[in-house]
Amino acid sequence: MQRGDESEGDLSDIIRLSNWDRLSNDISKIVGLSLLLFDSKGRLLSESANDNPLCKLIEATQEGMQICKANCGKNINLSLSANETIFFKCPANLHVFSLPIEINGIKMVILGGKTFFSFQELSELRGLCRRLNIDPETLIPSAKDLVFHDIQFLRSSAKFIGTLAYYLFDGVYHKERFHDKSIRLMTILNVISDMEFVTEEDQIYRNLINAFGIIFNIDSASIMIKDNNDELFKTKEAFGKTASLISSFSSDTSKGIFGRVADEKRPVLCNITFEILQAGLPVEIRSVYLFPLLRKEDTDKLLGIFCVFNTELNEENIDMISMFCNQAAIILENLILRKKNRRYLEEIAVFADISRSVGSTLEAEEVCLMILEKTTDLLFAEQGSLMLLDRDKMELAVKAVRGIDKKIVNLLRIRPGEGIAGKVFAEGNPILVRDIESDHRVQRSKRPRYKTKSFMSIPLKLEDRTIGILNISDKITGDVFSEEDLRCLKSVASYASVAIERSEFFMRFEELKKISITDPLTTLLNRRYFQERLHEEVERSKRHGLPLSLIMIDIDHFKSFNDRYGHPAGDEALKLAAACMRNTIRTIDVAARYGGEEFTVILPQTTKSSAQTIAERICRDVEKIDFAFVREKDRGSITVSIGLASFPEDADTLEDLIRNSDRALYLAKEHGRNRVVLFNREAL
Ligand code: GH3
Ligand code: MG
Ligand code: MG
Repeated sequence: MQRGDESEGDLSDIIRLSNWDRLSNDISKIVGLSLLLFDSKGRLLSESANDNPLCKLIEATQEGMQICKANCGKNINLSLSANETIFFKCPANLHVFSLPIEINGIKMVILGGKTFFSFQELSELRGLCRRLNIDPETLIPSAKDLVFHDIQFLRSSAKFIGTLAYYLFDGVYHKERFHDKSIRLMTILNVISDMEFVTEEDQIYRNLINAFGIIFNIDSASIMIKDNNDELFKTKEAFGKTASLISSFSSDTSKGIFGRVADEKRPVLCNITFEILQAGLPVEIRSVYLFPLLRKEDTDKLLGIFCVFNTELNEENIDMISMFCNQAAIILENLILRKKNRRYLEEIAVFADISRSVGSTLEAEEVCLMILEKTTDLLFAEQGSLMLLDRDKMELAVKAVRGIDKKIVNLLRIRPGEGIAGKVFAEGNPILVRDIESDHRVQRSKRPRYKTKSFMSIPLKLEDRTIGILNISDKITGDVFSEEDLRCLKSVASYASVAIERSEFFMRFEELKKISITDPLTTLLNRRYFQERLHEEVERSKRHGLPLSLIMIDIDHFKSFNDRYGHPAGDEALKLAAACMRNTIRTIDVAARYGGEEFTVILPQTTKSSAQTIAERICRDVEKIDFAFVREKDRGSITVSIGLASFPEDADTLEDLIRNSDRALYLAKEHGRNRVVLFNREAL
């Protein structure tokens, strides 16, 4: 599309388009979107330097030009008449917004975006290319630098560019009141500071430094930020010719020229080679301007330093950069606050996970591991361990580890009071060690299995006692742990203690419940459980009209087995017989020790004839048991007699069902033992 020449004449009194060109180019570079300005008749007033190459490719063909003009024109008109921003997908599959603005009665439209949301949208373009006789292969080089965005990004970009436009045009209009550069500067800063879609810290640094570098024609620059412990300024982003030399530079916050900025809190210039080298900067740096990034609310608080290298700055530029730095500090502070909020949200999510584990079926050890994993993630730590007090042995035992070989730590047994962990446990106070070698509380050489010299150790406390400790070490970034990290660890620890206590209690409770329903010798279910369960099964049978069978089992001549091989051998035989029954029945069946050498099996949803098959199988399998533990030559064998009755065929009540299967058992004994007898009303 060609620039509409007549309209420029109309507007030139009010809007300096060359200014818009420059400004919009900077902005579109920063946000990575195209920005074009049209008048109310759909004529192009200003094109974007960052225009989408695919768009150009298509518009180069006659038919493509027509298609695009018609589509964009329609949407421009639509947004003008509705007086609101319209988002649409153009025939080239690009997502575009049409944003109407009105400056001093003159209506214009900013057409922006021209971005794909997915690779799919790009590959679907092949169809259009064929239609326009464009070789689809030419798409690839044009598309190689494309960045994919999403609708949220496009919406927030449109919103801020809309806000910006008024400020921008108004500023240009009152140009006598503004210096050209300062308008560009403030404009760009405002855009950046309002970019809610830029959430990555690095991206903000990059945007700031690029905007700044371009505007002031700077040779090299860097943004340095103070670390959590106020000890170092670390380079976060570097720009220009010496970027690669300074990108990992850091400086003490209290020494040399950097210390001077921290003290004086105003810009410092240095072109004395000795001082520059002393600060640790490379020889390629000949001059340094350091601008403090001060928090607006609290001028004592220094966030970092903006460094300009090898660039001469005049008074005016120094003033402007100072102004820029104030603005930048606000942006950075917002970023820090946002990050803090994000961290709180992450913390809350960890609390929620820990709380959910309480009362779940997780074993205590799984709860410990989950707590450790969530905590190390939250604190960006590579290593950690969780130890609990073994109350019987009065030792701390490792329950969960991360990043450390479990075999090594499993052997670790620490007595309260011994070593760092034992001391933290015994004293009940958390410690944050920045440097293990110089901290007088711990003072020892750096241990080889840790990467950094900093760690945190915190007791896991309940109201009245300490149950264990949580150790966190090796920050992924290599940084030292901060007070903020410790605060975060403290709040997790209080949740964790409760969760661990509850899960242990829950497990003990489950254990007790199991004990109360099992027979200790055979580990089959006990008679009490059998009674309850049979009651439930009879009720279920009644409700659903399903059959239910019950078998009673009694070992034959067990008295003589005992007499011959001894009571302990009798016990072994009972265990083997029980195991044999458990293996023979189905999972839905319920085997219990009824008493002495008598057993019973509930067979839910089972007819008498099916139950008979199972009973016969038990009979045969018991007979085959090998009594290897009996050392005598004649190892002996046992047999069982089984009585069977079914509900509702043989009984109306639970009591009848037990009584009648018992009667059948009696008959099995009568008829010679080692057999199954089915209850039969008529036979009585
Ligand atoms: P039958 O049932 O075939 O009529 O003969 P029996 O010898 O099994 O007769 P009875 O039921 O009267 O005797 C059961 C014996 O089982 C009595 C007791 O010595 C033995 N017994 C019961 N409970 C245990 C136990 O827990 N361990 C051992 N070793 N023996 C037990
Ligand atoms: Mg008996
Ligand atoms: Mg018996």
